[in-house]
Amino acid sequence: MRKILVVGAGQSGLQLALGLQSYGYEITLLSNRTPDELRSGRVMSTQCMFHTALQHERDLQLGFWESQAPRVEGLGVSVAAPDPASPSGYSRAVDWVGRLDGIAQSVDQRIKMAGWMETFAQRGGQLVIHGAAVSDLDYFSRLYDLVLVSAGKGELVAMFGRDTARSPYATPQRALSVAYVHGLGPRPEHPDFDAVRCNLVPGVGEFFVMPTLTVTGRADILFWEGVPGGPVDAFQGVNDPADHLSLTLELMERYTPWEYARAMKVELTDANATLAGRYTPTVRHPVGRLPGGGLVLGVADVVVANDPLTGQGSNSASKCAASYLESIVAHGDREFDEAWMRATFDRHWESARHTTRWTNAMLAPPPEHVLRMFDAAGRLQPVADRFANGFDDPSDFEDFFYDAEKTDAYLAAVGGEGVTAG
Ligand SMILES: Cc1cc2nc3c(=O)[nH]c(=O)nc-3n(C[C@H](O)[C@H](O)[C@H](O)COP(=O)(O)OP(=O)(O)OC[C@H]3O[C@@H](n4cnc5c(N)ncnc54)[C@H](O)[C@@H]3O)c2cc1C
Repeated sequence: MRKILVVGAGQSGLQLALGLQSYGYEITLLSNRTPDELRSGRVMSTQCMFHTALQHERDLQLGFWESQAPRVEGLGVSVAAPDPASPSGYSRAVDWVGRLDGIAQSVDQRIKMAGWMETFAQRGGQLVIHGAAVSDLDYFSRLYDLVLVSAGKGELVAMFGRDTARSPYATPQRALSVAYVHGLGPRPEHPDFDAVRCNLVPGVGEFFVMPTLTVTGRADILFWEGVPGGPVDAFQGVNDPADHLSLTLELMERYTPWEYARAMKVELTDANATLAGRYTPTVRHPVGRLPGGGLVLGVADVVVANDPLTGQGSNSASKCAASYLESIVAHGDREFDEAWMRATFDRHWESARHTTRWTNAMLAPPPEHVLRMFDAAGRLQPVADRFANGFDDPSDFEDFFYDAEKTDAYLAAVGGEGVTAG
């Protein structure tokens, strides 16, 4: 059977390794961490995944935590506005929740990646714990029919040139900070079901709250995305997790007091429950050339790394793994040459381009017609529902998000009383 090397054991690498294994391929998986190191390590993401991405996991019988993880049935949006009458100076100008057609779920990557890695090894896969360097890949590329680099945003991305035409940003667009907590109070807006909540604070950033399954059970994630140089870009150098949580809460109290009201009693889930950082959204050329002339194919974040503002990275990684799996299997015994590698990426890009366009648009200040749509969604449930389901299928935004005329035509068609163009 054909031999494939997968470098990097995250969402895409493990999903591909397990998928290929189920088709009988001989897979070697390189991971720079053991399952135990992952489990006891730092949180890595908020990893909320929507229906299509979860279905790819189910198709491979990999939805091991589905019954334990909170069922996310909606996606809510709040927009903060300065309000001199509010003690914090901000109140909520927009507040609605859209219902998802299929549930979303977040399973802490520490649990999922550790569990999937163990499953891969139990099923006879060759798991090698080693942080791969380019020189290793040079050597290995001669021994394998195909080398897939699924090492996320790690150093190996340097092998893949930046695609400037598809990468409009040259610097990070948000400063990220995450805290996993227990003890968040129920959401008064809809206490009967779970949802992800996006709180937009114009000019300042975004604050997300989402339920998750973590190493200590059910929890909630408090996730700030701060505009660089702004008041939420304040976590660099905050190394003590308790200080990180205090700062998170302070910013909530100021900019999203309705979320802070639920968070008075929260505590961190564990000693590694916080994360802060930033990165530049980047699309890369998919084929890397090794010093010895061998070729490797980039997977998921290696080739398309979007800002987590729209919660798409794990979704896109799952979609990429599913698409690459089909392309590999369909290729049979033929050589995995450069033309095949490019075609395989192009096929994935058909979906990833929508994710990228939408995420990059959301990083910019919202234009008037988008603000009009957010406002209308509070009165028109179908608009709220459609926006929420765009997180599962961002290609739908082409039809009602980017262009003021299309947005207004859509709002008029839905029957928005008082919704006018311009
Ligand atoms: C704060 C934050 C919040 C996010 N929230 C969401 C969200 O809500 N929803 C969503 O869909 N996405 C979210 N994402 C994005 C998502 O986590 C990533 O896009 C996704 O994990 C990418 O999957 P991947 O397989 O490409 O890489 P990863 O999951 O990053 O896996 C790469 C793996 O390769 C390993 N590795 C790196 N270098 C080497 C090497 N040289 N040798 C061996 N192994 C190596 C790494 O340690 C890692 O285990 C978020 C990201 C961040 C930072």
